[in-house]
Amino acid sequence: MQVLFGTNALNGRVRQTLVVSLYTHPSSLALGAACGVGTSAAAAWLSGDRAILAATLLLAAIALFRIVAAVYLLRKADHHDTKKLELIYETGAWSYAFVLGMIAALTVIGNVDPEIQLLMVGNAIGYGVGISARNAGRPVIAIGQLFLAISPAIVALLVDGSAAHIAMAASMVLLLPAMVSIIMITFRVLRDSVASAETNARLAEKMQLLARTDVVTGLYNRAGLDHHLVERLMRLQGDRKFALFWLDLDRFKEVNDTLGHPVGDRVLSEVASRLRKQCPPDATIARFGGDEFIIACETGTRGELEILADSLLQAITRPIRIDGDRLQIHSSMGIAMMPDDGNDIDSLMQGADLALYHSKVNGRNQYSFFDPSMTRDLVRRREIESELRMAIQREELSIYFQPIVDLATGQIRSFEALVRWFHPEKGELRPDEFIPVAEETGVIITLGNWITAQAAKTAAQWPDDVTLCVNLSPLQLRAPGAALGILGAIREAGLSPSRLELEITESVFLEADETTDAFMRQLAAEGVRFAIDDFGTGYSSLGYLDKYPFGKIKIDRSFVSGMDVGKKSDAIIRAVAEMANTLEMEIVAEGLETVEQVRAVRAAGCTLGQGYYFSRAVPDYLAALLLVQEQEGARRLTA
Ligand code: C2E
Ligand code: CA
Ligand code: CA
Repeated sequence: MQVLFGTNALNGRVRQTLVVSLYTHPSSLALGAACGVGTSAAAAWLSGDRAILAATLLLAAIALFRIVAAVYLLRKADHHDTKKLELIYETGAWSYAFVLGMIAALTVIGNVDPEIQLLMVGNAIGYGVGISARNAGRPVIAIGQLFLAISPAIVALLVDGSAAHIAMAASMVLLLPAMVSIIMITFRVLRDSVASAETNARLAEKMQLLARTDVVTGLYNRAGLDHHLVERLMRLQGDRKFALFWLDLDRFKEVNDTLGHPVGDRVLSEVASRLRKQCPPDATIARFGGDEFIIACETGTRGELEILADSLLQAITRPIRIDGDRLQIHSSMGIAMMPDDGNDIDSLMQGADLALYHSKVNGRNQYSFFDPSMTRDLVRRREIESELRMAIQREELSIYFQPIVDLATGQIRSFEALVRWFHPEKGELRPDEFIPVAEETGVIITLGNWITAQAAKTAAQWPDDVTLCVNLSPLQLRAPGAALGILGAIREAGLSPSRLELEITESVFLEADETTDAFMRQLAAEGVRFAIDDFGTGYSSLGYLDKYPFGKIKIDRSFVSGMDVGKKSDAIIRAVAEMANTLEMEIVAEGLETVEQVRAVRAAGCTLGQGYYFSRAVPDYLAALLLVQEQEGARRLTA
């Protein structure tokens, strides 16, 4: 018990509970008052004693005041401090007890009819004993009332001095310590049970809080989030919108795997504290599993949400310092709004999840708002995902070839292999639609091996000076045994390694490691060549040009035929061409559709060209035909 009463706060709360208990049941107060005032009035009337009458009137006034105060204070118990409540009760109780005790004494002193004396002294004793039990919660009050109610009669009896009166006074005196001891015992029992109930309630509160909190970040966990979302929605006001952000840290698994879980946890908790700083103070923020966070807040317009989303992305991207290391974390986000995107939590979560998926597929480190088309896209993606594995076996895939032409002579120098999927129901599917799915699901490894093998078989039929270009996904070159797989495929097809050129995008070098190095070195040693694809669209560091054996740069078609076309892109092509020249690399302009474009890129220094102006990607027999035509043309020229 000492422990329970050790803190002042607990002591205070127990005390308050006990004081408030004094005020409960004002009806018992009223009943007691009616009894006391009633008997006193009877005594006053029967005795005709003016002093008793005056005291009775005073008693009635005190009783009335106490009842009114009890009803009024009880209603506002929380707003009054314990001390004030106690003082008001104390004053009322003591004065009531004292006046009641005085009336008993007056009957003895006034020497009224013994029956009336008996009535009032008995009344005083009854009141003192009864009230001791009722108010044992505050012993000071109870003991005070006991003494004030009984002592005046004792004194009066002693002063009167008759033997019976003295005997009665003596028995009343003995009653006092007995009642004090009962009060104290009752008080202790009451105090202890209130305190333990209090402790239990606090423990339950604490457990509930723990069950709803994420230990790593201190944010809500899934259970906490559910609880708060329900509460928030109930409080949502009229035209306010409700937004849900679903946030996922990009490549967080790598942080955990390479730096360890303790560092991962610190990153998470830093991210959490940045989110807290950026979000409106009343936002609900939760960690939802591993590296995902959910933010729910009220908002007015979509513009407000865009500002918030931008600030969240920026806040997370700011480098995080951990033990001298500087980590940069990006995140992807999906946002759904109520009522625009749904009317309940589930549809909001679904919408935000889909929007998040959209952000990830579109290159991460960005946010997307939910849009109904995302549901359709997802369905289509799932279908593609499930059908892609079968597509190879069902022979629905073919490889088309697009010529890459020498801009000085017009001769075909190579063909780029581009995969096509002729779906029995969906028709022709573009690689842009299914290659990303293949990459995501890992099917790209099987698919890529198949493409290389097929394309190599075709290319082996071409003249020796025509090379084959094959696109390689970043995932493919990191797969175990990737280099050996490629070498095996061309060996089987009978294509010399020097006639194979692998096109890789700059993104590979964002995460280059020993595997990348080994892959490139192993193939380069065999004579395989490399080209950088889509140059100018991503990564800006050019360090990899020096490090790896590239023979070709393919300038992305946005510089040739896209929206950026103009003086600026012309200057970029020139600069790249000059650099490629110095490094003794060839430079290919992609996406050439008009003769003007061909002239422009040639003037800018590009050595090779590719695009619809020369030919679209065509099936293998047409590629062979193009080569035959070219040879015949050449023969005619020399003939
Ligand atoms: P990419 O490697 O940049 O391939 C060039 C894309 O540009 C091809 O689209 C081609 O048809 C298109 N193209 C060529 N000339 C022109 C032109 O003059 N104008 C326009 N507007 N477009 C032109 P495709 O075949 O749809 O391939 C799209 C992307 O899919 C490729 O971009 C490549 O990244 C990927 N891809 C295609 N085949 C394969 C493959 O076998 N393996 C891998 N890993 N990726 C592939
Ligand atoms: Ca390519
Ligand atoms: Ca390209």
